[in-house]
Amino acid sequence: MFTAFLIKYAEIGVKGKNRYLFEEALVRQIEFALSKVEGEFEVRRTQGRIYVDAVSDFDFDETVEGLQKVFGISGICPVVYVEDKGFDELCKEVINFIDQVYPDKNKTFKVSARRARKNYPKESMEINADLGGVILDAFPEMRVDVHKPDFILNVEIREKIYLYSQILPGPGGMPVGTGGKAMLLLSGGIDSPVAGYMISKRGVTLEAVYFHAPPYTSERAKQKVVDLAQYVSAYAGPMKLHVINFTDIQLYIYDKCPHDELTIIMRRYMMRIAEKIAGETECLGLVTGESIGQVASQTMQALAATNEVCTMPVYRPLIAFDKQDIVDIAEKINTYETSIQPFEDCCTIFVAKHPVTKPNLKIIRAHEQNVFDKIDEMVEEALAGREIIEIG
Ligand code: ATP
Ligand code: MG
Repeated sequence: MFTAFLIKYAEIGVKGKNRYLFEEALVRQIEFALSKVEGEFEVRRTQGRIYVDAVSDFDFDETVEGLQKVFGISGICPVVYVEDKGFDELCKEVINFIDQVYPDKNKTFKVSARRARKNYPKESMEINADLGGVILDAFPEMRVDVHKPDFILNVEIREKIYLYSQILPGPGGMPVGTGGKAMLLLSGGIDSPVAGYMISKRGVTLEAVYFHAPPYTSERAKQKVVDLAQYVSAYAGPMKLHVINFTDIQLYIYDKCPHDELTIIMRRYMMRIAEKIAGETECLGLVTGESIGQVASQTMQALAATNEVCTMPVYRPLIAFDKQDIVDIAEKINTYETSIQPFEDCCTIFVAKHPVTKPNLKIIRAHEQNVFDKIDEMVEEALAGREIIEIG
């Protein structure tokens, strides 16, 4: 029965002069999300409101699910458009609407009419009172409650008359494209896809980098990361995934540096390379899935050691999250099942039995010098040979 949705947005409503930029980004993201959904839609922006009109058959649940992935949306109201054929016809439509939307009639309600078309013969207050009466006559179990009703029947008199009463929750956040761009270090694990999701929820566009180490890591491990990027892009929009062949660099560090410091030194090179790509692609920061104390390479000391090599801000949205909280989000955004597939990521191959948990920066720096003769060249080579995969 519904043929349209009224899109409610919260935070972006207060952005003053820049409001149109936020609305444009929101429309763009809605169009992107709906391009994945069966059916044809038109997204229109009128008088500070955004409507999604279905212009073909469509699947209601799938469409709502699509809209629930668009950051910036706080609520989604399914709307019925009614032709204005006089007040008696409107009463019939309203009765029909309520009958279908509320099979259980034991509800309190109020009517909230808005006369956007001023030549309509009744004023808002009169419409409220008259429709309220008609509803009470049709459904004696229903009661009016103007303070805390179970539902508000909105009746907007425009070219057509719009009826809506439900508000389905949106994901909140800010429309992607309003917050600059960041480079996500995306591995095949549980954490980094969640980190990317969280940063993009604040309106940030993403680009991603994955370090793989063939033949130590398989094609399937890479495919897993591509799949994860795809899930993240359902929220974050299209993104580029840079795949860096890290094998030679890793082997060289393995060869030249103490094995218990391998993870830290490797992570330092990942950050350096990510920062280089970020600089070339107008990214304003790096994003990782790190969380204090989760593993040896994520103690405060280890984080300080990996952080040291970057001048760009490194955003770590999961820094204070417990694993279970991260898993809960991973399940919500559908990445969990993919993340737990058992393919080696490049770090697990080279992990030492007893990695340092409290790396001493001076010592790390000193040992890192062992690779200085060739490493810059290797980094340049890895950058030049990178594969770029378009996601979304
Ligand atoms: P995740 O679950 O995201 O893999 P993790 O708990 O396994 O994280 P680490 O392996 O220590 O943690 O990695 C910390 C962060 O470094 C990751 O969240 C990710 O942002 C980045 N990272 C690690 N390995 C890679 C990789 N192969 N490619 C790109 N980024 C990586
Ligand atoms: Mg990992």
